Amino acid sequence: MVLNYEDYLLTIWEYSESFGIATEMDISRRLKITLPTVSEYVGKLSAMGLVEKSGRSVKLTRSGKRVTIPVVKAHRIAEVFAMKFMEVEWEEVHKAVMDLEHLFSGTYGDNLYRNLGYPEKCPHGNPIGDINSGSRIAPVAVREGRYVVDRVTLEQIETLKKLSGISAYPGSVVFLRKEGLVTTLETENGSFVLSDIENQSIRLRRAGPNKI
Ligand SMILES: [Zn+2]
Repeated sequence: MVLNYEDYLLTIWEYSESFGIATEMDISRRLKITLPTVSEYVGKLSAMGLVEKSGRSVKLTRSGKRVTIPVVKAHRIAEVFAMKFMEVEWEEVHKAVMDLEHLFSGTYGDNLYRNLGYPEKCPHGNPIGDINSGSRIAPVAVREGRYVVDRVTLEQIETLKKLSGISAYPGSVVFLRKEGLVTTLETENGSFVLSDIENQSIRLRRAGPNKI
């Protein structure tokens, strides 16, 4: 896989949305690139004015965000396309389009977005049109109870597999159980204990009394 700056920007976006900040270690693990290579690349992005470094932490600058939003949108449109027309599995589709998404930006991307009927969200619930419209409620910050899965901000295949394993997709009603520091996500098809990452990156919305 040939990585270019778009993969870095997308990854920094995902971590920023999930945890408020990205670290070079996060990027290294997620993209399976050595830490020195990541550092060097982040240095280039910083010289371009797209990110701000403090220690090993990385933040998108205002112009970095401007450059990244079309990349994030192209990725999400590519996911909708790959799932709808290529029948790629829900939990595989994020990874499957990492190579492909560069085709989906610019004019072709605009055409495809229109021909797909302007989908509002990617298959994992992340918004395409108004990029900041997704729910911000993280399991770690709420009480035990019934919720609806809104989106997954860090689309890691392990997390997506656990969710699809209990049939918890965006729009699914789930029960969040809290016992001490252990948080469990339950549906009628099963349950799993949330990792620290999942406790922040699976986003929920409140289940209305008659909205099932
Ligand atoms: Zn997605």
